[in-house]
Amino acid sequence: MRIVLLGAPGAGKGTQCKRIAAKYGLMHLSSGDILRQERAAGSNLGKKAQSYMDAGELVPDKIIVEMMAGAIKKAADNGFVLDGFPRTVNQAVELDKALTLAGQKINAVLNLEVNDQLIVRRMAGRRSCPKCGAVYHLENLKPKVEGICDNDGDKLVQRPDDNAKVVANRLKTYHQQTEPVVAYYKNNNTVYDINANRTADEVTAAIFENLDAMVSV
Ligand code: AMP
Repeated sequence: MRIVLLGAPGAGKGTQCKRIAAKYGLMHLSSGDILRQERAAGSNLGKKAQSYMDAGELVPDKIIVEMMAGAIKKAADNGFVLDGFPRTVNQAVELDKALTLAGQKINAVLNLEVNDQLIVRRMAGRRSCPKCGAVYHLENLKPKVEGICDNDGDKLVQRPDDNAKVVANRLKTYHQQTEPVVAYYKNNNTVYDINANRTADEVTAAIFENLDAMVSV
């Protein structure tokens, strides 16, 4: 199964993708996570991406398409769930081209819909573990011990691009450049609109209901 998860930054894509990947045995491919790993490793790719990420802007398509095509090639045959990619119509077109060449296609697109005010609140409270990437929230998804990762005991941090000014820019970028991707997929694929103004567990239940129905067809 090959799935794309769309939604604004802070819509809960990462949390939901991890759950989808675990339930259906898929590889979770997050463009943001791959970029953060490249930055941490000090690679050329990471250095090129840095200024765009810090400003809440999109890294150029050419860099991202190449990076994600490489990650997709390495994914196992049973498939993947894409998180944060594609983020422009051009990226979506390039992804379709690469999949067609490999005799594959996207089976389902999930579109997480959240209102902007809620996103700003969610991102202000988001904390993550720099070591394992687990994501928490100060109010909705608390770790067992405040400020500490449940998995490895590392100290939780706020992503530098989750500060208010950058969040505003990321939302603007989303509306201008990524919302048209939803329309692109609605013309070409099955898109499941999911109301994501709810708890993470409620959103997961709605996603699983749609995917289970699809798998059983
Ligand atoms: P995320 O963790 O998905 O919110 O991504 C963090 C940042 O990485 C974004 O604000 C962008 O600067 C960059 N980024 C991630 N995915 C993409 C993409 N598909 N296209 C362009 N830039 C991206």
